Amino acid sequence: MLQIGQTIIECVQGDITKENVDCIVNAANEHLAGGGGVDGAIHRAGGPSLMAELKAKYKGCPTGSAVITGAGNLSAKYVIHAVGPRWKDGLYHEAEHLASAYQKSLELAKEHGCKTIAFPAISTGVYGYPKEEAAHVAIRAVLAFIKTYPGFEKIRFVLFDAESLTIYQKYLP
Ligand code: ADP
Repeated sequence: MLQIGQTIIECVQGDITKENVDCIVNAANEHLAGGGGVDGAIHRAGGPSLMAELKAKYKGCPTGSAVITGAGNLSAKYVIHAVGPRWKDGLYHEAEHLASAYQKSLELAKEHGCKTIAFPAISTGVYGYPKEEAAHVAIRAVLAFIKTYPGFEKIRFVLFDAESLTIYQKYLP
């Protein structure tokens, strides 16, 4: 746990669909088409209204950006669908795109008056981003954002696997 001003940044192991926060972030794809991993879990738990809203409002979302919908049956108010990069070899602006996915998510959360937000480890599943590097990028992006905007109360990284939790705990003891 790290506290900066009123913002607590913490990491826990768990299923992000169970989080009681104002908004949860999804690791979506450019087509906003739904998928496996955390995306599948969020759409299953949230119900069909998420996909209906995505289809009605957005024609996809570029890598490094994010869009927002309601949260259906989830206890959150919003789901932010962020598109992280597919990992190739690090020479394709992966870090820049991953940082931007976190930053856009935080901007949307701020614009919608959210005080508490939960992130998964975007891009570290099917998209193959090395977990340790992805954690650096994620934490750096969050710290940079809260320097300019101190309004969040809690930013929580919800890690599905023990390995990811251990990595985050090194930086957020
Ligand atoms: P990506 O395509 O961005 O890599 P994935 O969903 O495949 O997205 O994986 C992103 C991360 O989300 C992985 O670390 C995966 O273990 C994790 N994950 C999968 N299901 C959940 C869940 N229910 N809650 C939180 N994290 C999850």
